[in-house]
This record gives sequence, C-alpha cells and structure tokens, in this order.
Amino acid sequence: MRAAILSTGDELTTGRTLDTNANYIADQLLANGFEVVAMMTVGDYPERIETAWRTLFEQAEIVIGTGGLGPTADDLTTETVARMLGVPLISDQATANKIRGFFEAMGRQMPANNLKQALFPEGATILENDMGTAPGFRFQFPSPRGALHGVVMPGVPREMKHLMADRVLPWLQALRSADEAWRSHTFQTFGISESALDEMVADAVDPTAVRLAFRAAFPQISLRVTVQGHPGDLEARLAGAAAAIRERLGEYCYAEGDMTMEGEVGRLLAAGGATIAVAESCTGGLVAHRLTNIAGSSAYVLGGVVAYSNEIKQSALGVDAATLARHGAVSTEVAEEMARGVRRATGADYGLATTGIAGPGGGSAEKPVGTVCIAIDGPSGAHSHRYQLWGNREWVKLLASQIALDWVRRAVLGQDPSASAVLRR
Ligand code: AMP
Ligand code: MG
Repeated sequence: MRAAILSTGDELTTGRTLDTNANYIADQLLANGFEVVAMMTVGDYPERIETAWRTLFEQAEIVIGTGGLGPTADDLTTETVARMLGVPLISDQATANKIRGFFEAMGRQMPANNLKQALFPEGATILENDMGTAPGFRFQFPSPRGALHGVVMPGVPREMKHLMADRVLPWLQALRSADEAWRSHTFQTFGISESALDEMVADAVDPTAVRLAFRAAFPQISLRVTVQGHPGDLEARLAGAAAAIRERLGEYCYAEGDMTMEGEVGRLLAAGGATIAVAESCTGGLVAHRLTNIAGSSAYVLGGVVAYSNEIKQSALGVDAATLARHGAVSTEVAEEMARGVRRATGADYGLATTGIAGPGGGSAEKPVGTVCIAIDGPSGAHSHRYQLWGNREWVKLLASQIALDWVRRAVLGQDPSASAVLRR
C-alpha cells in the first residue's frame, strides 16, 4: 500500500514553522514498510485543503494529514474532510465531556468554540489524544482501487507523535495483509561521513532483498536495514543482513537500535555504576546539556564546570598557570589538567574536558579555528588528543561534544579513547 502525507497550516506555507511532522511521519512509515509516494503542504483554505486530499488519494491508498484540528476559525480540516466524503459532522459525547472536564480541572471557563473539537465526520473512528484536547480521527471510503484510508492528527508535534505511535502504527500494521511483513534494524554510527558509510556497506547485502536507508541528522548518522516479505523467515533474513552490515561497520558503529550517543554513554555509565563530571571550555556546557538530556542521568552525572576563562580554569579546576603559559589554553596539556581537576573536585570516576577554538575569530597559524583538545581522566589514567575540526562555530561545538561523549563511551568500554573519530569529510 502506498502512503502520502499532507501538512496543513498557514504557519507552514509562510515559512514561519518548519514542517517537522511530515519528516517524522515519513520516517515512521518507511520504517514500517510503507512507501511514501508524495508529501504536500497547504495553507488554511478549505478549497486548497480539499484539493490536496483529493489529489493525494489519487496517488495513495493511505493519506495521513496533520494540522487544522484546533478550536479556532482557521482550523478547517474536519469540516473539509466531511464535505469531501459527503457526510455530516456528528458531535461525539465522550469527547465533548472530556473537553469540558479539561477546562473544569483548570478552573477556567470553556470558550464555546472548543466544542468544535468534538465534531467528527460521520462514520469516522476517533483516535483518542492523551496529550491534548483535540483527538484525531481516521476514515475510510471505497474506490475502484479498493478501500482508501485517511488519518487526521493534530499539528502539535508532541500530540502527533503520541497518536502516530499509539493509534496509527498499530492500526497500519493490522491493515497490511497477513503474509506481508517488514522488519528493520538500525545502526548508529560516528566518525565516518554518510557517503563513506554508503561505500563501506555497498556490497555487503543483496540490494534486491535488503533495503538500506541512511539518515544523517548530525550528530546522528544512522543506517537502517529493512527486509520485507513472508513473516516466516523474516527474522532470520534480518539477522543475516544485520550481521553482514555489523561486520563492515566495525568500530564506526557505537550503538544499535534507536539510540543517541548520550543515551549510549548513559547506559554504559549506569550499567557500570560509574560517575562522570565535565570541565568544558569550547563546548560551553553542551556536553553537560546532552548528558543530562537523558532521563535518569542523575545516577551518573555528578556535575561540571564551564571554565571559559583562564582564571576559572585555574581557580575552579586547578590548572597550573605555568601549563597555561607554556602550552596555551587550547592544548592537550591544559585539557588533561582540566579533566584531572574536575575529577578531583567532584570525586567522579571519569573527568572529561574540552578546550578549543570554535571560531570564527581566535585562530592562529599554529592553532587554526577548529582546533579542539579533548581529555579524559579515569581509572586507567589520563588521555588527551588534539583534533582539527571544521565548520562554523555551532558545528565545531557540536562535533566536539560528540567526540567528547564518544571518549567516555570508549573509556568505559576499556578502549583507547583517542582512537575516536577518524573523521572523514
Ligand atoms: P493545528 O493542529 O493546526 O492547530 O497546529 C497546532 C500547532 O502545531 C501549530 O501552531 C504549529 O506550531 C504546530 N504544527 C502544525 N503543523 C505542523 C507541522 N507540520 N510540523 C511542525 N509543527 C506543526
Ligand atoms: Mg493550524
């Protein structure tokens, strides 16, 4: 079955809001074996919305739309879909009660137009929304090609993701015929570009039997392996394909499945009962931010210091004035003293440090913009390395944070951290 995606809202067609919903839905559909044949975006105009739904149903058996479900006058999706189907709008009592209850619980008067969100095209199946007042719905109608299916979800990304995961994907999986199934496995990589990755795995699997999808949303570069066919031998085929890919990727693969670098680092630290503290100069707290984005990170993150000036490097971390004078703030020597200092100050098992020149100013012939030194001090002693990174300020910071996190991962695994990131452009 072919799928199409429709995003609705003036905020999208005017460029004020980036259409992240379509991106997310496309990714989910692909992972579940549905081919997306078209994606479309329209503003809040009834005739444009209707034309879009009709056009997409000419190309796909499933159309998934988001947006236009709010209580205000510019939210037109429900009435437009009802008109297209030639059915009346019916008020759903349970939904109306839930909306009233929501306002009562907040002690607020409910504006009358909120009850608009309890209206659905007759015959539609309501997709209950646990994260907001507007439920989604799905509908079905016959065509010479067989049944066509439509799904409508709120535009708010958080609510859309919830409905997609809990209401739409289970239904889509059931919709597919029993002898067609999909299985996929994801590898997370670091230290290699998307194109080099492509070359590396090119002939590892039979392209007619295994689909490889690269997804580069740096720092996340992942490779998804998908097999499709009869459910009977799918697991075995996937395991075979994954093993071939795993062998090719070698140490460029830092995790498998749906996992970020900070998530993997956290998993390893927690599993080993180890703790970490960070001393950050050029990354300005980004490493600490990423580490603490992981729920439960209080089990292993003790704290950190953003030591941007030389004075703070000395007073808060005990970096020696002579080391700073002799080697400069951006040096492996200073990075090591920062790592040791934060470890000593906090009693953490690992002290991690970054110091570098993020640019655009501050570079020299000897230490150009993008020079970044990473150090870690841990149970197996101190390690440091100087990298030459590239890109703008934001990119250098992000790349440096990714390398630093990879150092922790390697250190916890007992590997040499400085082997991290043989970066190829
Ligand atoms: P709506 O369901 O149309 O009321 O949308 C509610 C809010 O969700 C909008 O104001 C946007 O901020 C956001 N939104 C809607 N559509 C999208 C989209 N395709 N991608 C990202 N955000 C969206
Ligand atoms: Mg809208």
